Parts: sequence; structure tokens; C-alpha cells
Amino acid sequence: MAKFKLEYIWLDGYTPLAGMRSKTQIKEFASFPKLEELPMWGFDGSSTQQAEGKSSDCMLKPVAVFPDSTRKNGVLVMSEVMMPDGKTPHPSNSRASIPDAADAWFGFEQEYFFYKDGAPLGFPPGGFPGPQGPYYTGVGYSSVGCVAREVVEKHIDICLDAGINLEGINAEVAKGQWEFQIFGKGSRKAADQMWVARYILARLGEAYGLDIEWQCKPIRGAFNKPLDWNGSGMHANFSTEHMREVGGKAYFEQLMAAFSKNMDEHIAVYGPDNHMRLTGLHETQSIDKFTFGLADRGASIRIPHSFINSGYKGYLEDRRPNSAADPYLVAGRILKTIQSVPTS
Ligand code: ADP
Ligand code: MN
Ligand code: MN
Ligand code: MN
Repeated sequence: MAKFKLEYIWLDGYTPLAGMRSKTQIKEFASFPKLEELPMWGFDGSSTQQAEGKSSDCMLKPVAVFPDSTRKNGVLVMSEVMMPDGKTPHPSNSRASIPDAADAWFGFEQEYFFYKDGAPLGFPPGGFPGPQGPYYTGVGYSSVGCVAREVVEKHIDICLDAGINLEGINAEVAKGQWEFQIFGKGSRKAADQMWVARYILARLGEAYGLDIEWQCKPIRGAFNKPLDWNGSGMHANFSTEHMREVGGKAYFEQLMAAFSKNMDEHIAVYGPDNHMRLTGLHETQSIDKFTFGLADRGASIRIPHSFINSGYKGYLEDRRPNSAADPYLVAGRILKTIQSVPTS
């Protein structure tokens, strides 16, 4: 028997941007615990905007479990928030409400800024570094500084140790901005891994005095001016079995018609403040337009060359979701639109 540190992670009730919360419970198990072995738990919902003070209990239902290599016998327990009955999903529980399908694959590209003392990491006090250009995939102290690399390297290792399907990282266009990619099969699985990867990164930043800025446009300014900085997205690459194995031009056109028709429903769950980011500049389409195009980084949906080359088969990239979007809602909405299109 060993005592395991179970870190229950959940999303709070703050809007428009849910925060991540967690607390530890220690339990004895013969070996690394399976999901079915983990008990429900509770927390004070009045402190997380999830309940009134007089009836403040909310329940935590474990839904995914990951080893935590940063702690001896550590376990990360992704949880859904439930009402006191333990059965009814809390209104803030986005995971419970989305459609899922094992054949729906999602690859999320999470962009974010490291923040130190209220400014992006590497910005001189009260001012701005040199304009964008050398930072994207950059190397060297003047491009990426001396701390970020250490943090992203540790993030990779902790995610891989956890069994999270992290596929890569890169320095991004703005100074202090980075990206990691997560791939998962199933709406919930991909999004669970994304939330836990976000959690690991936010927790990792603590020891460095770094915050992770998930907001999609932390630094604003006019185009081509010294204050011109990229925003942060969470591009959602997606495919279903039908898209990968049958596909075809006619199906693709119907799919795009469905995305166009549901434009507002998609934008509604693609993250707060997206009008600041989806301007038609900085490799984005305007928030009020829906377009798609081959290798077009200025379109709402980018069609990879591989998709056309294999006869309209494969995955597509929705470039509109932003860095602060809830991946449960993004994956769920994409799947809902796909499911509205007949496959025969
Ligand atoms: P870029 O920066 O050029 O847009 P990235 O390499 O950062 O591209 O991200 C591409 C993403 O596409 C990865 O997250 C990858 O997992 C995902 N992906 C690849 N194949 C598929 C597929 N068949 N279905 C869904 N996502 C996929
Ligand atoms: Mn990318
Ligand atoms: Mn990117
Ligand atoms: Mn992309």
C-alpha cells in the first residue's frame, strides 16, 4: 500500500473565463489508482462562484486520471463539477453537455503569453522590445530570453510523464508568446488533456514568478505600428472517420455550408474578447465573416494541402477558437456541426 496525493482539478464558475482550481486529498491504494477507484469529493462552491453561501457544497466527479511526476505518488484527477446530489451536472460543467464520438479527432494548438510583473516576459519595464520578426521559432537570448525555454521543456516532460498526448511546442510571433499542441481522439479526451496541460503549465509558472496569460489579445495596437502584436489562438484541427476515409468534394462543401450557417454558434464558444483578435489582420479572418481556403492563414478554416491532395480527405483547421476558449465547448460545437451533415 502507498499513500497517493490526489490532486482534484476542476473549472470554477467565473465568466467569461473559467479559472482552474485544485486541491489535494491523500488516500491509500495498493498501486496507482484507476479512475473507478477514485471517490467523489466536494468543495465550497461559494468561493468559486458556483454556489450561494448558505448552501455551498458542490461535488467533484473524477473523469480522467494522470500520473504527476512532479510529486512522489502524485495523481492529477480531472473532475466535473456536480450539484450536491452528485448526479446532476452543475451549470458551469461544460464537459457534461457536449456531444462526443471516439472517431472525432482533435488537435489543439494552444498559444499563450508568459507574464511577469504585469507584462509579457522579456518586455523591458514600461516599454516594448523590438518589433515582431525574430521571436517566432526563435533561438538565442535576445529572442527568447533565459527562462521560457526551461519552463516549456519542463512542461513537455511533465505532460509526457502524465500520458498527455502533447505533440510539440514552439516560440510564437510575439515576444514572450509560446504554443503547445495537444492531440486527442474524442471530444472529451482531447479537451481533458488540454485542460490538464494548461493546469500543469500554470502550476509550473509559480516557481518562476510567471503567470500564464490566456486572454487572446493582451497587447493591442494599430496595424504596422510599434504597438502591433499578435493575439493568441487555440486553432482546432479536426477530423472524423468519414472525413478521413470517405470525404470528397461534395461532402466538404456541405460541411462548409453547415459551418457557415452556424457561424454565430461557433463564435459564441470560441472564447471571450475574440473580436479583439479576429480582425482580419495577423493571420486571422474577421469575426463576422466565414471563409475557407487552401493553406490560407487568413481564412476562418484553413484546408491543409494534404486534404486536397488526398481527394478532399483528412483534417481541417478551424483558426477561430482563441487561447482562452474552453476546449470542451470548442470540440463539442465542431462535432455538433459535423453531425448535422448527412454522410450518405
Ligand atoms: P500549424 O501551426 O501549421 O497550424 P501545427 O503543427 O501546430 O500546425 O498543428 C497541427 C495540428 O493538427 C496538430 O495538433 C495535430 O495533432 C493536428 N492533426 C493532425 N492530423 C489530424 C487529424 N487527422 N485530425 C485532427 N487533428 C489532426
Ligand atoms: Mn501551430
Ligand atoms: Mn501558432
Ligand atoms: Mn494552426
